[in-house]
Amino acid sequence: MPQTMHRRRRHCLFCTLCGREISTGQEYWYCNGSCICADCLSDFARAELAPYRATRGKEECP
Ligand SMILES: [Zn+2]
Repeated sequence: MPQTMHRRRRHCLFCTLCGREISTGQEYWYCNGSCICADCLSDFARAELAPYRATRGKEECP
């Protein structure tokens, strides 16, 4: 039985949002227990900063 080469990685890291693997050398953001890849960063930031979102001209003035 031929032995196949297994590339052992120290750990696999997956993006919390899209589930894709974050490979070595790739940037990611670890925030609030989530690992976010660069592709998902804008979506994640948008969700995280949703409470601070405002629309110009429709700001709530106290
Ligand atoms: Zn992602």
